[in-house]
This record gives sequence, C-alpha cells and structure tokens, in this order.
Amino acid sequence: MEKNSAWKKRAAEIGNVFAVAEDYKAFISRCKTERECVAWAVAEAKAAGFRDLAEVTEKGEALKAGDKVYAAHHGKTIMLYVIGTDDIEKGMNLIGAHIDSPRLDLKPNPLYEDTDLAMIETHYYGGIKKYQWVALPLALHGVICTKDGRTVTLALGEDPKDPVFGVSDLLIHLAQKQMEKSASLVVEGEDLNAMVGSIPLADEEKEAVKKAILAKLKEEYGVEEADLVSAELTFLPAGPARDYGFDRSMVMAYGQDDKVCAYPALRAILHMDTPKRTCVTVLSDKEEVGSIGATGMQSRFFENTVTDVLRALGKDTAAAAGALSRSRMLSADVTVAFDPNYPEVMEKKNCGYAGMGLGFNKYVGARGKSGSNDARAEYVALIRRILDEADVSYAVNELGRVDLGGGGTISHFTAEYGMDVIDCGVPVFNMHAPWEITSKVDIYETLKGYEAFFAYGE
Ligand code: MN
Ligand code: MN
Repeated sequence: MEKNSAWKKRAAEIGNVFAVAEDYKAFISRCKTERECVAWAVAEAKAAGFRDLAEVTEKGEALKAGDKVYAAHHGKTIMLYVIGTDDIEKGMNLIGAHIDSPRLDLKPNPLYEDTDLAMIETHYYGGIKKYQWVALPLALHGVICTKDGRTVTLALGEDPKDPVFGVSDLLIHLAQKQMEKSASLVVEGEDLNAMVGSIPLADEEKEAVKKAILAKLKEEYGVEEADLVSAELTFLPAGPARDYGFDRSMVMAYGQDDKVCAYPALRAILHMDTPKRTCVTVLSDKEEVGSIGATGMQSRFFENTVTDVLRALGKDTAAAAGALSRSRMLSADVTVAFDPNYPEVMEKKNCGYAGMGLGFNKYVGARGKSGSNDARAEYVALIRRILDEADVSYAVNELGRVDLGGGGTISHFTAEYGMDVIDCGVPVFNMHAPWEITSKVDIYETLKGYEAFFAYGE
C-alpha cells in the first residue's frame, strides 16, 4: 500500500499541527497517572458545560439532544456523553482510550533501611523491560489515604526545585557477571528498590535514617508509616514532555501509551457541536494489566452509565443491550511505529509508520490472531469512507511480524456487546519505555480522525 507523508499534506497548516502539540505536551506533562487524567478531564468537562451524570440521575433530571454529561468512577475512569439528535437506540459513536501506563508502584509496606540508606520497595505495573527503569530520575505521584478520611495527593519531582528519586544501577566496573545474564534477568523485579534518603535522625540508634524520613513525611504530609498501607503511590519518569529532533517534529514524553490517544479522544468531545448520533469518550484504567477491577474496561461501570443515560432520556433501560450492539467504536490505543534500528520485527508492507497519520490495527492478538478483536470488512470500509471524506491521513496495519509476540487492547471487551470496534491510534517509538516518542503530525491526524468519526451520523 502506498504511504503518504502527512507532513507534506499538512504543509500549509503546520502552525496548527504544532499548536495542538503544545496543548498536548501541557496535558501529558501534568497528567501522568489515571487519577491525574480524570481530575483534569472533570475540570475541563465542567468548564465545557458537562454535568455530572450522578447528579442528573439523583435529581431525576431529563436529558435531551445537545446535553453533555460525564460519569467518573473512583477517580480513575471517566465517560463523557454528548447526546445526539437521533434516537440513542440506533446506536452511539464511541471512542475509548486508556489512561494508565507502565510504572513502578510502591509496595504496601515500602520503607526500610539498609546500610544507613532509606529505601523503598516497588512492584512494577504493566509490561516493562526492568533494566530500562534504573539510573534515571523518578517522580513520586499518587495518594495517601488516612483512617480519618483525609487524602494526601502527591506529585513530587516535577518542579525543577523538587527532589527526584531513582533505582540505582550496577557500575560497569563490577558488572562482568551481570552483563552475561539474559536481558530479562539483568535487573530483576525484587531489585527495583528506590533510594530515598541518607541523613540519620539525631539521637537515634536503630534505623535512624528511616526514622528521619518518616519524621519528614509526618511534618510535610501529616502521615504515619502505617498510612502507607492505604496509599497508591508510584514512581514514574520525572519531568515534562519535550520536543524531539532538530525540527521539533516529535514529542518525547512518559505515558504516551495511551495518553496520546486519550488526549484527542477528550479534545474531540469537549467542544463538539450537537451530533446526530450520541457520542461517548471512554477513558479507562487498568488496560496495562488486563482491564480488570472496578475501573477497568471489564467493569460494569460503563454499561451502568449507558443505563443511567437511557433513563434520563425517558427510555426503558432494557434498551441498553440494543443501543450498545448498534454502536460503533474506535478503540483508541497506540500502535508500533516502524523503527529503522529494529527492522527485523516488522513486515514493511503491513506496519505502522510515524508521520503517516492515524494507524489502524484491524486485529492485534498473538500467534493465529489469538485474543484479538478482528474488525469486520464492512466496518473497515465505513471507517475508510469517514476518514477519506474528512481528508485524514491513515493506514490500516498490524502490530508486527507474525509469531514474534503480540498485544491486547480494550477492543475485545467492548466487542462483547456486539458493537463494531476497531483499534486505532498514534504510532509510537519506545513503547512502554520510560520515555516514548510520537510524531506531532500523527497526533494531529488522530484528532482530526476522531472528530470526523464523532461527526459521522449515518
Ligand atoms: Mn495501550
Ligand atoms: Mn501498553
């Protein structure tokens, strides 16, 4: 298939491409965890005139075409609805991205002292190459919840004046045996311990450094060691998104899988005109660990919001199943960008390329397409029509060479409702590494593509 550079096509509107990228960089520099994404989305939604669906339901208010509502759950997942002029039973247009990313979570009992150093135990989240997460500056994000009902929110290490943390690496001088190990064993999970302090508390004999750190936590955040059990704290790469390359054509940032798709999915719905079909943006949690839990895509929460919307529209809630099966969805998740350093994992005619626009995966999965949602041909044809009419650059591909590995998204979970779903998103270099890279023009094409999908009402 012929590949056309989206940069050439957008030459006349390059200012817009870079302006969208600036807005995206501000978003992804601030929203590094699912909680931060949801808080940001709620604030933006309210400012754009969205009402809380829980309040609408509680007050027994009615919804009509043009109304905008959001539903957030446990602060980690959110759905935004814009009610269309068509009967919702004809189906909705959905775009679903995930807002969790690989990172190093703190264990429930994290803090200890070893040789006058305060250390923190971590347990990695999602699929990572462990050796990539050592010897780099990490920030501490998350919440600590106390028994008296307080929630302390942290994002320490982002301000240049903040301290940073990190997991140490072995000096090359003594690494002879380490260098002989296979890559999966060079740094093992239990070795991902972060160093967090070294000054002992005065007049303390035992664990004086650990006690000094606890005193600091008490003084600055009002929390005790026991409160760390009821915390969700995580170490992730410190610092903002940066321009990448002499020509600043790319973005380097943490967590672009999948916030580079969450951003256009949000932006496309926040300021849209009243659509024909009801439009929904879904930002889900826990995709990197199988979409499980109360805030993952397998939770009934999404379905329950559909029921609440139907009720507020004066519909029988039994209509939810039909409305869902007649819906269509873009499962908005990143795909791989062809990397000249690793050509052997790609099949050049069927892989994603940076700078070519929105990348579709008709299916993902592994081996014989195992575990994948394989979008039907009729639906792919409809998507082609929508994007061609809107003059959006895109390509339909697969993840990599057959039998080399594979991946999953949220598409096979929403496909269970019987709706049409296809995976599509921005091609990424360094996926799941601490710093991932995307092309600014692909973010732009993805935004244009998502807008066109929402606007399509036939
Ligand atoms: Mn993803
Ligand atoms: Mn991923």
